[in-house]
Amino acid sequence: MSKRVICKEDVCIGCHLCEINCITAHSSYPHDIWKAFKLQKERPIARVLVEEKGETSFALSCRQCREPECVKSCLTGALRIDPVSGVVVLAQERCIGCWTCIVSCPYGAIRPSGGKRMVAAKCDLCQGIREVPACVAGCPNDALELADGREE
Ligand code: SF4
Ligand code: SF4
Repeated sequence: MSKRVICKEDVCIGCHLCEINCITAHSSYPHDIWKAFKLQKERPIARVLVEEKGETSFALSCRQCREPECVKSCLTGALRIDPVSGVVVLAQERCIGCWTCIVSCPYGAIRPSGGKRMVAAKCDLCQGIREVPACVAGCPNDALELADGREE
């Protein structure tokens, strides 16, 4: 069964550490925050985004939808559901930066990567990088949880 990251907004303190850990995990130095921020030429964007309104904050990332609009809309087949893990994955080498997926995701979970070759970027649950997603493992307040199940 596929997993997804869930945020408990009553516990999130809006520290943005999940974003920092996500950037680090997707850099060339996935286990060294200092190197990821000081030595990486083109720093990756965070695939999790902290939204804040007043006292409330919430970390937003891909819901791993059961029938993902992003996958349906992708023109090049860059987005697909991994048949083994069930994670919605994005092959950046196939992406042409048309932003159809960004427009079609109802949760705003896909963003432009930045950098010279602008492609899409989304949460991959740190597949192949970490056992537990970096945002979940590094949250000082246990506001993020790796839960079973997909968004309907
Ligand atoms: S990127 Fe958006 S549409 Fe695609 S699976 Fe994630 S939440 Fe669903
Ligand atoms: S931006 Fe890339 S991943 Fe998104 S729909 Fe276009 S080709 Fe597919």
